[in-house]
Formats: sequence, structure tokens, C-alpha cells
Amino acid sequence: MSRFGVTNGSFSVAHNMVAPVVLALGTQAQREAFLVPMWRGDDVWCQLFSEPGAGSDLAGVATRAVRDGDEFVVNGQKVWTSHADRSQRGILLARSDPDVPKHRGLTYFLVDMDTPGIEVRVLKEMTGGIHFCEVFLTDVRIPASRVLGGEEQSGNGWRAAMHTLANERAMMGTAPTDDDVEKLFALARRAGRLDDPLVRVALADAWMGARIIDYFGYRARTALGRGEQPGPESSVVKLFYTNYLKRIASLAMELRGPEGMLAGEGDGAYFRHRFLYAPSLGIAGGTSEVQRTVIGDRVLGLPSEPRPDRDAPFRPATDGGR
Ligand SMILES: Cc1cc2nc3c(=O)[nH]c(=O)nc-3n(C[C@H](O)[C@H](O)[C@H](O)COP(=O)(O)OP(=O)(O)OC[C@H]3O[C@@H](n4cnc5c(N)ncnc54)[C@H](O)[C@@H]3O)c2cc1C
Repeated sequence: MSRFGVTNGSFSVAHNMVAPVVLALGTQAQREAFLVPMWRGDDVWCQLFSEPGAGSDLAGVATRAVRDGDEFVVNGQKVWTSHADRSQRGILLARSDPDVPKHRGLTYFLVDMDTPGIEVRVLKEMTGGIHFCEVFLTDVRIPASRVLGGEEQSGNGWRAAMHTLANERAMMGTAPTDDDVEKLFALARRAGRLDDPLVRVALADAWMGARIIDYFGYRARTALGRGEQPGPESSVVKLFYTNYLKRIASLAMELRGPEGMLAGEGDGAYFRHRFLYAPSLGIAGGTSEVQRTVIGDRVLGLPSEPRPDRDAPFRPATDGGR
């Protein structure tokens, strides 16, 4: 794709996050209904997880799903939903049981975005693009057959959400480095700074970073080829890529000097976009702080962070609910 200058852009949620979870945890009927249109590019999917009050603490999702006959009725608000404005379908995490601890009362739905009651409002970001949206859900009726893995999986959404996030982080951390380093060399040459020792160190650092990301990518693809699923180690990859992108984008801006503030064209425009986009990578798919916690807890086996609300019901009996 990089050779032809195209990306799977809007399809990335479908291909890299939804397809693996439907393959691993969906029913046979769900696999047959959703995977082929996803791979053929007929359907764009979005991820309806984050809410104004639930991001890092994703298990705090407050959007409610109430069973009504063969359907669930869903009410709530999602935010930062990438590509929601152009999506045919979405993966939706909602609370079906507020009386059990927060990780246990969540249900994972496969929802059609044209269902009545779904309203999408776009958000403009500082790159100038429109990447993500707010999504309001009012009395949205979703058939129980659209619970991932079948209706008996109602309340088991957390496991599927973790599966999705591990794939998301692996995808983000193994993004192609394209010819970033060659572009940086060209900028340094143009700025007459190839002999500057600090620039040389930064270029070597960028080259090493790009190679490490390439090797992470080979490793991830080999594991997937063996039928393995990405686990908490995907946080290492994502954290590394985030820091790499910030470093190379800042280096490019330094090499471009005051011109870096202008829109520019060619490599200039490419790095300007990356510079403005890079901070969001440290937030999307779980912030860098959260990745460090995952690495500490689940990769290095360090003592866990205190989680006082882990075993308490989501809706404390005393406050009348939230
Ligand atoms: C470009 C982009 C695309 C996105 N796309 C989607 C999408 O398609 N679908 C979707 O559902 N969401 C999406 N998100 C949302 C993203 O997952 C959340 O923004 C992210 O999980 C952080 O949540 P928050 O914004 O609520 O921040 P908060 O959770 O409120 O965090 C605020 C700050 O507190 C820190 N913090 C919070 N808890 C801890 C802790 N326990 N320890 C240490 N520090 C902590 C965080 O690191 C952060 O710095 C996207 C975000 C971005 C930037």
C-alpha cells in the first residue's frame, strides 16, 4: 500500500480490530454475515467504546443496554469515535447490568449505524482533518442476536473489549515506517545540516527506531500467522511507536525551521501533519500512562495499581444509581 501511496485508512478499525474479534469470539452466523463485506471493503466499522466519563477507565462505561424481549434498548453517549460519520457498522460496549462489579456487567454489540436513534456529530481536530465524532444513542433497539458471540455472552463484553484493544495497540505500534528516515535525510541535506553532530545522532536514532518498529511488525505478523493473538505486549509496541513518531516529527520540524509552521508540500506537508497528529497517538487506544501500567502489571509482573472499586457493584445501592 505504501508503494502505491494509499492506506487502508477508514477500514483500519474493521480489518485490524473488528475482524480479529469476530473471528475469535463471534458466532458462525456473525462471521458469515460480517467478515466478507469487511474484507471486501463494503463496510466501514467504528469503535463505540469511549465516553465522556470513560476513557482510560473503560470499564466505567455508563451507556445503558436494557433487555426488552428479543432486543436491547440502548441509551447513552460515545465520544472520539473514529470514522463514525462514514461507518456502516460499529462495535458498541454498553452496560447491561449495573448491579454487578463494573468489569462484569458489560455487553459487546455489533450494531448497524443506520439504526434509528443513532446521531453522529463530527469533531474537527488540530490537523485540520475530521477523524472522530460524538455519537448519541437514544432508544436504539439492537436485536439480541447482535451480541458478540450470541446472547448468552451478554455481560461478558469486557473480555472481548480487551481482545479488541490488544489488536488495536498491535496495529498502531506496527504502523509502516515507510521511508521516514530517507525523508529526514533529505530534509537535513536541504537544510545543510548533515554534518551537524546533534542532527547526525538524531538521524541515527530515527533509523534505529524505524528498524525496531519493522522488527516488531515482523514478530507480530509471524505470531498472527501461527494463530496467536496479541496480548499485553502490544502495549510495548504501541508505546515505542508513539515516542518514535513524536521524535521524528519534532526533528523534521526543527530541520524545516520557521518554514515548518507553513502547510508546505511534499515531505514538508507530510511531517507537518505527523507533528500535529503525533500527540493523539499517546492518547488513542489507551494513553501512554495506561500502556505503562499494563506493561508493569501484565508484562513485568510488578505489583498492581490499587483498584478499590474492582469488586464493588457499578451502581452503589446508597446513591440511587448513576
Ligand atoms: C485520535 C484518537 C482516536 C480515537 N478513536 C477512538 C475510537 O475510535 N473509539 C473509541 O472508543 N475511542 C477512541 N479514542 C479515545 C481514546 O481511547 C481515549 O481518549 C483514551 O482512552 C483516553 O481516555 P480519555 O480521553 O477519557 O482520558 P482520561 O481517561 O480522562 O485521561 C486523562 C489523563 O489522565 C491520565 N490517567 C487516567 N487514568 C490514569 C491512571 N490510572 N494512571 C495514570 N494516568 C491516568 C491519562 O493518561 C490522561 O493523561 C480516540 C482518541 C484519539 C486521540
